[in-house]
Amino acid sequence: MEKLTEGVHKFRTDEFGNYRKLFRKLSQEGQNPHTLFITCSDSRVLAELITQSKPGDLFVVKNVGNIVPPSSVVGTTNSTAAAIEFAVETLRVSDIVVCGHTQCGAMEALLRGLPAQANQPHLHQWLALAAPVRQVLQTEYTHLRSHEERVTAAGEENVLFALENLTSYPCVQQRLADGSLRLHGWFFVIATAELFAFDPDSKQFLPLGMDK
Ligand SMILES: [Zn+2]
Repeated sequence: MEKLTEGVHKFRTDEFGNYRKLFRKLSQEGQNPHTLFITCSDSRVLAELITQSKPGDLFVVKNVGNIVPPSSVVGTTNSTAAAIEFAVETLRVSDIVVCGHTQCGAMEALLRGLPAQANQPHLHQWLALAAPVRQVLQTEYTHLRSHEERVTAAGEENVLFALENLTSYPCVQQRLADGSLRLHGWFFVIATAELFAFDPDSKQFLPLGMDK
């Protein structure tokens, strides 16, 4: 906790001056983020840092495993859906990025078998949403031997699954149809801080910037 309060003081004394005008403007005019950025709660994946974004730029959803549940999932398991509807309908973002990453604990859990329902009922239910990713791994990635490769493949497939699920939301469908919204699948490599983007033509994750 001390680290947090020290950081707050440091921000106020060293950094805030650079942002004073921007925060005032955002406070007066409200937020107008260009992108809904859905990524993992993992402490090593910092959306604003890796995209060098400023306050007001990104509407960020962080959840365990950057999972996007299908639109049909309602109730306590789908707070991510609420964020999607708000960003797409109210904030009118122009882009949605789903960003997975290497060494994702959620993907490891998914491959290992879901956590016990008795001890972690919410986590069990949440990860179960991504069960189709596990099936893809079991059928299409049998050639991968190393655990690391399998976790990376699961992370990439999970991004594609999330993009597919995004298209199940009526608000997303509507804005894709009128051409005012774009979807992007990204993958972050922690060790090298490299970003890859899914290229629908080659069906591969390519270094960001080469995907179009
Ligand atoms: Zn993760």
